[in-house]
Amino acid sequence: MTYDAATKMQFLYQLRSKGVTDARVLTAMEKIDRAAFVKGLFAERAYEDMPLPIACGQTISQPSVVGLMTQALNITPRDKVLEVGTGSGYQAAILSKLARRVYTVDRFKGLVQSAKRIFEEQDLSNITTFTADGSHGLPDQSPFDRILVTAAAEDPPGPLLAQLRVGGIMVLPVGQSDTVQSLIRVTRTETGLEYDEIRPVRFVPLLEGLGQE
Ligand code: SAH
Repeated sequence: MTYDAATKMQFLYQLRSKGVTDARVLTAMEKIDRAAFVKGLFAERAYEDMPLPIACGQTISQPSVVGLMTQALNITPRDKVLEVGTGSGYQAAILSKLARRVYTVDRFKGLVQSAKRIFEEQDLSNITTFTADGSHGLPDQSPFDRILVTAAAEDPPGPLLAQLRVGGIMVLPVGQSDTVQSLIRVTRTETGLEYDEIRPVRFVPLLEGLGQE
């Protein structure tokens, strides 16, 4: 499917109508072709506002949720961002258009390899990929200005909070995997952590260790 002007307009209209209003986020989402990250049978549905299945039993998030999470991060062009849960690589690609550098980690090697190939094809050269349990963060690359977790934990993982710079923001879904989860934003201030709730969401769980493929 070609990403023609009419499809693009409809895609952006859906995002705006669901609350994605930040102009920089919308521009980044206009530039990145979601179909490149959704392979096979479902590629023709890439511009609909719905989550879709990807390899290793995982899902690529709904575009409006990607937009709302990105918007909540309030990224500046100098930021170093960590994403936990590479999945298809779509969210990392959006982040790469807004930040100086993006580190993205997934527990499935196959997903990381596939995402890395797409980043190369699309000349997204400021993304570095890792295969690891991202709930430990990436101590060697820390601290981060922004952290985005795209799988749900019961609580914000301690190592991720510890790797957030003062003034930094982390956005993540929290709650039990099969019930309603809450998308929250954690801001590290000089004196501690501030929490605010964004909206209910549903994500796959943040699991321990590497994925078995
Ligand atoms: N951001 C992705 C969608 C993420 S789906 C996209 O744009 O397509 C959630 C991803 O989190 C899955 O790929 C899953 O393998 C990964 N995940 C779950 N637990 C993890 C962990 N502990 N460390 C790293 N990745 C994890």
